[in-house]
Amino acid sequence: TTVTRFAPSPTGYLHVGGARTALYSWLYAKSKGGKFVLRIEDTDIERSTQAAIDAILEGMQWLGLDWDEGPFYQTQRFDRYNQFIDQLLAEGKAYKCFMPSAELDAIREEQMAKGEKPRYPGTWRERTDHPQDKPFAIRFKTPQEGSVIIKDYIRGDIEIANSELDDLIIRRSDGAPTYNFCVVVDDWDMGISHVVRGEDHINNTPRQINILQALGAPIPEYAHVSMILGDDGKKLSKRTNAVGVMEFRDEGYLPQALLNYLVRLGWSHGDQEIFSVEEMIELFSLDAIGQSASAFNTDKLIWLNQHYIKTLPAKEVAEHARWHFAQQGIDINQGPALEDVITVQADRVKTLKELAQISGYFYQEYEALDEKAAKKHLRPVAKEALLLVQSKLSALTQWNTESIHNAINQTAEELDVGMGKVGMPLRVAVTGAGNSPALDLTLNLLKPAQIEQRINKALE
Ligand code: GLU
Repeated sequence: TTVTRFAPSPTGYLHVGGARTALYSWLYAKSKGGKFVLRIEDTDIERSTQAAIDAILEGMQWLGLDWDEGPFYQTQRFDRYNQFIDQLLAEGKAYKCFMPSAELDAIREEQMAKGEKPRYPGTWRERTDHPQDKPFAIRFKTPQEGSVIIKDYIRGDIEIANSELDDLIIRRSDGAPTYNFCVVVDDWDMGISHVVRGEDHINNTPRQINILQALGAPIPEYAHVSMILGDDGKKLSKRTNAVGVMEFRDEGYLPQALLNYLVRLGWSHGDQEIFSVEEMIELFSLDAIGQSASAFNTDKLIWLNQHYIKTLPAKEVAEHARWHFAQQGIDINQGPALEDVITVQADRVKTLKELAQISGYFYQEYEALDEKAAKKHLRPVAKEALLLVQSKLSALTQWNTESIHNAINQTAEELDVGMGKVGMPLRVAVTGAGNSPALDLTLNLLKPAQIEQRINKALE
């Protein structure tokens, strides 16, 4: 069976690069009817925080990337790692290294001065004259001959000669198992068949494969995903782009739009741009992921966001829009159903933040009239039109778009003016501004008494 995982280190929030890796891993598991595991790699105790763990889980949940198993925490599995380290020691596949770090530093400096790659020279690999009561690390006996071949879905076969690798530490002198070792034991224990991760880990992969082999564990397949660059083509950075997944929520993006954006950032299926999550699952494959780095393109994300705001069922959009109204202090418990507001506003906004910003008048009195619009349409010229349309509106026995439309129409006819001469003042009086959805749609979502009150106030 196919089992994939996402294995973030909780040293910060979930950023878009990590989210895309998680998405690819999640999609692959789903597309194969397999399982997706979440593993928190918190062995770096200094840099890992509970706040970061919470932020990562929040980001995953917001995106809808649910996990079948986990979250597992590496800090809770030290006994397990140590058990395998002891086994390797007993089998002579690992050894105690008593070299003090100052000595190793000196060796490295010398190597670098000679233009060589710094590496541990295997000093304690065969030594048996172990000192008593001295601290020691445990090193893995990397094979000295042959090579490792990484089978990578994205990059093809990558061969690394073992002579390039040194004997890595698998348990530090303070007793803590090291990162590469924990990953290996976890991937094996958790039955991971496909490792999808960032290309920054590609140097770890041959080391991990050697350890898996020493343990007699199966070797998973790999997909090392390229980097995401910023809008400016440079490394994605906070200074030029939003990078945290929850920042995109705050800016008013739908998770559907961000997912669609991220899946296409590095993966393609013909020239199709729009993918529902169901389609992604159906069509996704690891070998269609591109090798080159992809540049972030905010305009395209906005385009997708608009698409989803317009085309998703209003009820689904409302689930995410609600938060933005609350955020802006707009109480939507009184007034029209949020779905109905979304239906009339959907093609007027790029983001949900904007939706809340321009929809306040459905739920509360607007704070001030837009002066420009008021000057142009309202006073004093429109008093007659407003009073007449108001009397017609309050006389309506049925409140619907058709009756509202007729009332406005009749007012214009009776006064022998164009519709705009009635409609624009009415719009400004009711919404406070010169822009809104069609008036009949807008008024239909308000109550006649509210409209009367706003007209009177506008005429004050
Ligand atoms: N914990 C690593 C990271 O956050 C991922 C390691 C892996 O996927 O193997 O970069």
